[in-house]
Amino acid sequence: MKERKSKILAKIADNRSEPEFLKSLFDAGADVAWINTAHQGEEETINVIQKIRSISMTMPIMIDTKGPEVRTKDIEKPFEVKKGDHIIFTGDVSYTGQNVVHVTYPNFHKEIPVGEVILYDDALIETIVVEKMPKGIKCVVNNPGLIKNKKSLNIPNVHIDLPALSEKDKGFIHFCAKNNVDFIIHSFVRNKQDIFDIKKITDKYPNYDAKIIAKIENREGFDNVKDILKHCDGLMVARGDLGAEVPLEELPYMQKKMVEASLEAGKYCIVATQVLESMIKNPRPTRAEVSDIGNAVLDGSGAMSMSGETAYGEYPIEATTIMGRVMKYTENVRDELVHFSAEPKNPSKLFKLAKDTIAKAEKAKAAAIFAVDCDISFLRALSAYRPSVMVIAGCTSDADVRELGLAYGIKGLLIAEADAANLASQVKNHFKPKDAILVVQMTSKGLVRVVKPFQMIASKPTKAKQTA
Ligand code: PEP
Repeated sequence: MKERKSKILAKIADNRSEPEFLKSLFDAGADVAWINTAHQGEEETINVIQKIRSISMTMPIMIDTKGPEVRTKDIEKPFEVKKGDHIIFTGDVSYTGQNVVHVTYPNFHKEIPVGEVILYDDALIETIVVEKMPKGIKCVVNNPGLIKNKKSLNIPNVHIDLPALSEKDKGFIHFCAKNNVDFIIHSFVRNKQDIFDIKKITDKYPNYDAKIIAKIENREGFDNVKDILKHCDGLMVARGDLGAEVPLEELPYMQKKMVEASLEAGKYCIVATQVLESMIKNPRPTRAEVSDIGNAVLDGSGAMSMSGETAYGEYPIEATTIMGRVMKYTENVRDELVHFSAEPKNPSKLFKLAKDTIAKAEKAKAAAIFAVDCDISFLRALSAYRPSVMVIAGCTSDADVRELGLAYGIKGLLIAEADAANLASQVKNHFKPKDAILVVQMTSKGLVRVVKPFQMIASKPTKAKQTA
């Protein structure tokens, strides 16, 4: 079965979440709906969730909490700046005037010394602090650009004294637990304590199985990545902020090291930002962009994401389609090419069993592995080995199907009965009668693994049919 194995995240904006649009995006191949909370509250977010759920009960939803980031606040009217102009940044909202820009962190102007660089909007505009004023910091602009609402600010060399969770983030974590949101992706994770702070809240909801993804977007997070991965479910290489926080030449190295760290930890990995940036405006990507996708697949990243491309770009469907095409093509030629081969380090018994299962399927030249009602941790382990054989997982829980939306090489399907025939009936158009299938199923005798032709699996009546 030659399905795409890498997964695609699509950022969904509340002002572009009409069900028709979402359906076309999901049909084009988006696997996970990623919702940013930087510009919206809980009311807008629940609206988006309801629209997603009106289209699909199995589309995973990932909510992005913003962490210790600093952004500009609302600006009455966007204004142009040119080299040599001055901007005054301040955390004091009572201070107003020409070129005064309010920021979300009240102490901002008190903590940034003269001479420091402040980068605006994913580093599109560079400014340098030239003067400390009683209520703000005066900065000289080094390149022209447009100052507009709610954009990111990066101060590469200054540790901003913000807690991991803002009050808004805390509210959203409670929201995720109450609404059974599949993934919480937290921004600017710097160390394991940031993850513990999230878990302190989610632990209050014993029925909520929080899956936490750490967005790594500064040097501190990168330096602690192995430690962070021990306590969460995966990471996002957030190249936008990271590329503003560290010298750009370090970015490819850091990306590859983080992909390697997540492979070794057996955790999810998403490479993000500007993946198909040119398709915000153009119907076809640049050649460098398609190579970036192919290279991330070869590295073993498992998933990639789109931000502006799907949130407000002019070609969201085309971008999703091209991303899927490049991923699938590259996966199918991966064995011919030089690529990383990092694997889970110190694998547990379960991981060893997953590796052995993939080897068995490869040896039998299986067209697929049918994993019937297997524990989600076993499915995660199969995905962690980046299986060359597609895994079709029949799950009896829709939450498991949704989690698998992020799992490389695994297609999760909801089955009414925990048997392989039920699963086969849903994918019959993808297989020929004689295709070998490795069926993996947990039974009272333990894990049973048996190779059978597809025809034999499909012809076994399901329990539902037997009763009828
Ligand atoms: C990034 O900085 O690369 C990123 C993914 O963060 P955001 O969603 O805030 O753009």
